[in-house]
Amino acid sequence: MLKQALKAYFGFEQFKPGQAEVVQSILNGQHTLGILPTGSGKSLCYQLPTYIQKQPTLIISPLISLMDDQVMQLKAQGESRVCYIHSGMNESERYQNMKMLPQRRFIFLSPEFILQSHRMKLLNNIHFGLIVLDEAHCLSEWGYDFRPHYALIGQLTDRYPHTPILALTATAPPSLEMDLNHILNRRFKVVKTTMNRENISLTHFNFQDEEQKIKWLLEFIEHSGPTIIYVSSKKMCLQLARAIYQEGYLTGIYHGDLSYQERQTVQDQFIQNHIPIIVATSAFGMGVNKPDIRTVIHFHLSPNPSSYLQEIGRAGRDGQPSQAISLFQPDDAFLLETILFSDAVLEEDIQLHQQGRLFDDFKSNIIETLLMRYQYDEISDIFSTASKRKQLGYQKMMQYKHLTSCRRAFLLNYFSETITERPSICCDNDTNFEFLSVLNRKKVKRRMTYIEKLNNLFE
Ligand code: ADP
Ligand code: MG
Repeated sequence: MLKQALKAYFGFEQFKPGQAEVVQSILNGQHTLGILPTGSGKSLCYQLPTYIQKQPTLIISPLISLMDDQVMQLKAQGESRVCYIHSGMNESERYQNMKMLPQRRFIFLSPEFILQSHRMKLLNNIHFGLIVLDEAHCLSEWGYDFRPHYALIGQLTDRYPHTPILALTATAPPSLEMDLNHILNRRFKVVKTTMNRENISLTHFNFQDEEQKIKWLLEFIEHSGPTIIYVSSKKMCLQLARAIYQEGYLTGIYHGDLSYQERQTVQDQFIQNHIPIIVATSAFGMGVNKPDIRTVIHFHLSPNPSSYLQEIGRAGRDGQPSQAISLFQPDDAFLLETILFSDAVLEEDIQLHQQGRLFDDFKSNIIETLLMRYQYDEISDIFSTASKRKQLGYQKMMQYKHLTSCRRAFLLNYFSETITERPSICCDNDTNFEFLSVLNRKKVKRRMTYIEKLNNLFE
């Protein structure tokens, strides 16, 4: 029966692993958490039930680029009843889309947009058959420090007590199921295949200092194919991109402070292979549907194993051999700790806020957003738990860099997953380990124009 629907709506003969179970669970009316790896067809898990149930679906999505990608995919499949509203749109586009909402079958919105109270009534009278939390790990990972609205999603779902919720992700931090239960006040059935991506090999290098690290990198990218280099500061983004360009490669930068247009341009250039290398902060990657990324290099370590798996998972969507390489030098520990803990909301911030004496706008905003749903003591608990998790994730990454055993087994173990069979090229702790070699061509050197030379003189 389900297979017939799959064939009728999508033309596919077989489900990919996990899909049928997720779809069935939704049709049974169960809230479902689907943990299926990148490229495993998670979108179909909500599209098929939408077609079968013939009711609109609300998809809560964390990023504009992700919405863009999914809307494009749906339209390419011939679906025109699609709608999305986000901050990259001008007022009239937004207005047009809001007007069309009630006739749409797939409605994509960000948590920040929809959880403003005057917006909620936009959804009045729409009888959703399904609510989807795409990239559901956002709810656990950045949930409170950066995206406090994720902790409020229960306000929305409370209005639809009989609508099943589908949370989808490729990398679920160990706490995700608990957080979903807590934030949405519902029990979730978990459908999990694996978080392992066998075609991605794992390597780590420790260096003495920054200079050594950059030197290695500039040599390595000659044979790394389409490559993302992740860095954890915008300043480093620029500095590395300059060095890479000077070495002779076309490259681009991507971080949260660039405009929507700038980000889109560099992303498109990378996807279309006009530039082989992109230097980016963690803002880059979700929803980037480039199948042939061969290498993901972490110039700075990720803050925890789930972010790391999430970020390296962008390599090898085409199933071809790919590689993930992380780099470390002693000063990085300080940088990572600063990023992790400096902006964190502390117990004393919460107390100060309660007394009307917190003058940090960034933290006040977070606390005030959370106060829309939680009491002060609950907010304290939220941040003390977040801090413990950050510590744990950080410790794991510090262990990862000194690991002499299988890196894959170590990372998966964090998610209580064991591997039965290791791929032939697994990690650098194996004796037979080899890097991939896919040539990145250098750009043709051209002479600088007179004007450029002059400009350089005065820069
Ligand atoms: P994910 O979100 O899990 O990374 P997508 O939903 O983007 O994956 O799907 C990846 C690709 O797999 C898409 O091109 C989609 O059309 C295809 N796909 C999904 N389900 C099936 C299936 N049952 N059989 C064949 N291809 C599928
Ligand atoms: Mg997806």
